[in-house]
Amino acid sequence: MCILALDQGTTSTRAIIFDKRGKIVSRAQQEFPQIYPKAGWVEHSPQDIMGSTVAVIGEALIRAGLSAQDITAIGITNQRETTLVWDKKTGKPVYNAIVWQCRRCAEFCDALRRDGFAEKIYNKTGLVPDAYFSAAKIKWILDNVDGARERAERGELAFGTVDTFILWQLSKGKIFATDYTNASRTMLFNIHTLKWDEELLRLFDVPAAMLPEVHPSSHLYGCTDARLFGSPIPVCGVVGDQQAALFGQLCTKKGDVKNTYGTGCFLLMNTGDKAVKSQNGLVTTLGATAEGKPCYVLEGSVFVGGAAVQWLRDEMKIISSSDDSEAQAVKVKDSGGVYFVPALTGLGAPYWNASARGTITGITRGTTREHIIRASLEGIAYEVCDLVQAMEKDAGIKINRLAVDGGACKNNFLMQFQSDVLNLSVVRPEVAETTALGAAYLAGLNAGYWSGIEEIKKNFEVERVFTPYMDEGERATLLNGWREAVRKATL
Ligand code: ADP
Repeated sequence: MCILALDQGTTSTRAIIFDKRGKIVSRAQQEFPQIYPKAGWVEHSPQDIMGSTVAVIGEALIRAGLSAQDITAIGITNQRETTLVWDKKTGKPVYNAIVWQCRRCAEFCDALRRDGFAEKIYNKTGLVPDAYFSAAKIKWILDNVDGARERAERGELAFGTVDTFILWQLSKGKIFATDYTNASRTMLFNIHTLKWDEELLRLFDVPAAMLPEVHPSSHLYGCTDARLFGSPIPVCGVVGDQQAALFGQLCTKKGDVKNTYGTGCFLLMNTGDKAVKSQNGLVTTLGATAEGKPCYVLEGSVFVGGAAVQWLRDEMKIISSSDDSEAQAVKVKDSGGVYFVPALTGLGAPYWNASARGTITGITRGTTREHIIRASLEGIAYEVCDLVQAMEKDAGIKINRLAVDGGACKNNFLMQFQSDVLNLSVVRPEVAETTALGAAYLAGLNAGYWSGIEEIKKNFEVERVFTPYMDEGERATLLNGWREAVRKATL
């Protein structure tokens, strides 16, 4: 018997089948199109989300030579905040999925801030009013799709993040639910009372009848419809992607931290049963546990991480592949005084400066292509360094170990430099698919496939640990230079 994790991400959908030792038995992946109806707007087709979901589950089963009966449970993890609204009778969406990156509600969220709602929203949800989160996206659909508001008020429409939509579709309308981690990203959920918040529902004009039930991440949600994969499969785990990675890295204790180096970078710290209020631009959110109650998490995110490397490859064309960035960066002994602030879409935490722009400083006649490439990778590490420092201040905890994952963590130069500028150990696990692994663990624990966290911990294998060897003086000089470069990027 095996566990299947479904990872419905922003650019692709993956299914990964894991065995008892947490090893990958088979995997299948499908990319799907991004829809950009206007500058700054991003949508996904709900048919693409479901089509790719059913396809990759089927393909992963076939590749492993397994059938639905061989799967003890499914764990679902998903791109967070992305918003769907559909008809409760037919299951038909009334509009495309509005993706987390979409900026269409920016003005509405600016107005909320101007009108003084930021503190109330933060105190209830742990989030800052930003177009990123789901609430304003639901309001936009109800206000802009013909007849949607009336239908929602009559109780005919359902809202869901991607997990909820997938659960509904896989169960043919029998499951209408989400988990704490996804609910905590909607801006409608009170993370202290663990309930949908009536005052916020009024503020965003969202009828309560649209909302799913909220359950723990490790929970029997119901079964997939028998017609889909030949026989029903229990869904026993649902979790947002970043919280899944935190669990997959086994950051289950207070003070445990992981950073994901993907398109953006996401630093999450488990703060146990206490919600930590951020004074430094981080958000407070809910994390997954194997028990009934969620834990609290501090989260800092930067929008452009690995995407800086993509930009070097696709727009500047100075590297042939993302992997090539490492080979080029190590050809020079340092960045030659060049700093690259990857604020290509503004700066996220801890600066929250939407008008900052990408900035390269310190270019001289002697600057080479390799210096620029190296400075780009170093820029990602400095961004994470800012997040770690903000988190240490907020949590009052010194971070000594950083668990890493995501596409760019395979870059050894980047990981060593990260360890050097942070002066801590960077730990890269053997199974880099920590997001899928986290969802699989949560599902498998609920289903009794694994007996408990202790059994899972035995599966954890470290692939490589990076330890710092930079001296204090050099570190201080480099960090000063970075701060000066950030100042220039935000002028
Ligand atoms: P996501 O899940 O956000 O789509 P991934 O975790 O798959 O992202 O990571 C992809 C990102 O990592 C891309 O932006 C890519 O440029 C970057 N990346 C991949 N390999 C490397 C590498 N060897 N060095 C630096 N960046 C890399």
